[in-house]
Formats: sequence, C-alpha cells, structure tokens
Amino acid sequence: MSKTHRWVVKAGSKMVCEGGPLLIRAWMQQVSLLRKKHNVEVIWVTSGAIAWATERTDFDRPKRTLPQKQALSAIGQPLIMDQYNIALQATGLLGSQVLLTASDIKNSVRSRNLHNTLSELLRWKVIPILNENDAVSTEEIQFGDNDSLASQVAIMMRAERLILLTDVDGLYEADPKRHPQAKRIAYRQRLSAKDHAMAKHNSKASIGTGGMRSKLLAAGRACHQGIVTHLVRGDWPNNLLEIAAGRALGTQIGGRLVAPL
Ligand code: GLU
Repeated sequence: MSKTHRWVVKAGSKMVCEGGPLLIRAWMQQVSLLRKKHNVEVIWVTSGAIAWATERTDFDRPKRTLPQKQALSAIGQPLIMDQYNIALQATGLLGSQVLLTASDIKNSVRSRNLHNTLSELLRWKVIPILNENDAVSTEEIQFGDNDSLASQVAIMMRAERLILLTDVDGLYEADPKRHPQAKRIAYRQRLSAKDHAMAKHNSKASIGTGGMRSKLLAAGRACHQGIVTHLVRGDWPNNLLEIAAGRALGTQIGGRLVAPL
C-alpha cells in the first residue's frame, strides 16, 4: 500500500447549511474514496451547528447573547452530526464526534489526550468530525472560528494538507463580490502582508464566524509548519478528489502547485 497521507478538511457554516444533506453526502463519498483509493486519512472539521439550529427554530434574531448561541449550538450539533453519520453509513464508514475548546490544544496534557483519541480513531478507519464545543465555550476559551481550530489541529496531527471549504472560489486580488473582474490567485508560495491586508478589508462571513481574514490567518499558520493549504469552493463537484489528482482548484498556499498523490 502507498504512503498514508493525512488531511484536515474544514467545511464552513454557509456551505454546510445551504448544501445540506446532499452536499454532506457528496463530501463523505469523497472522504471514503480518499481513504480507500488514495490512502488519505481525513480529519473533518464542521461548522454550521448554530446556523443549522437558527434555520430550524424561529430564533433568527440579529443580536444573540452568549447563552442563546450556546443553546443554539446544542440544538444544531446533533442535527448536523445526524447528517454526517447517515452520509458516512452509506459509504460503509463510521463517523465520530469530537468537540473542542481552545484549552484542549493549549494544555499539553489535554492535547496529548486529543492526539491519542484522534490517532486511535484514524487507526480504526473512523472519520473524526470536529467542531468547537460552542455549548460550553465562552470568550476566554474560544478558538473563535473553525479556520483557526482546523489549522491548530492540522499542526498538532502533522497533517500534510489543510483544506478550507468555503463559499468563494479562493483568494482574489480584490473582493469578487464588489469587483467581479477581480482575478483569482491560483497559487502563493507564501502569503504576503498585502494578501492579509486585502482579506482584512474584504472579510465578513454572512453566516458563521470566519471570513477570508480568518482563512488566511489559518493558512499562514499552517504554511509556517509546512502544511499546504487550499481555499476551495465547498460545492465544487469532486473538489477533494480533484485536489488528490493534483488539479489546481481555488487557491493553493505552499507546496508545489501540481502534485498528484
Ligand atoms: N462552531 C460554529 C458552529 O458550528 C461555527 C464557527 C465558524 O463558523 O467558524 O456553528
């Protein structure tokens, strides 16, 4: 068998909620093929618990208190896990849920425990599905966004790639929503201060917490540790398999541009 690869893939709230069960199914089919055909272990990070619950309750208020967000996440998390589990079942794989607070990585004893749990799940060919433990996270212990969580897990688990599935096609020279002519950047060996400044101006996720700024911060952190990061549209057909085949999708940061597994 060829070398085992390890990827961390993070799906943003907008993609999870708008794509719903069908998109989750398509992702998990790819995860299964990555595992079986390309020998890629995937650690999946999902957002969308709060957004999913917001859509399914009548709690759609512009300003929410922390306990209200915590309560929404407690409603939404099992609902999105249901979707992942059903989708994985159809491929013959099992999923597992791991909910994290920032101290699970910062604290050395807890991060060792986390590392052991994730390693064991991967050894059993079970797909770990992670999210921030929003039901108990408060500002002091928050990752803040799942881009950051995913990059920290990728570093801790020595992943080769970090793939951020989002609602834009990648990093653009200017905000494509305001400048439709703006060109997509296919590759950067590393991010520049100009990239970060551009993302800062053009960043705001319509749902969820991230935005381009948090993606570039996550990519910069991962790149620093030699992890190749891809910013890719989440509903691009077969996006993960295309990346495994070495096709240039979205924006790649670090690594060599065309590198099939
Ligand atoms: N953990 C949040 C949720 O599941 C999303 C955070 C993010 O969008 O980065 O709703």
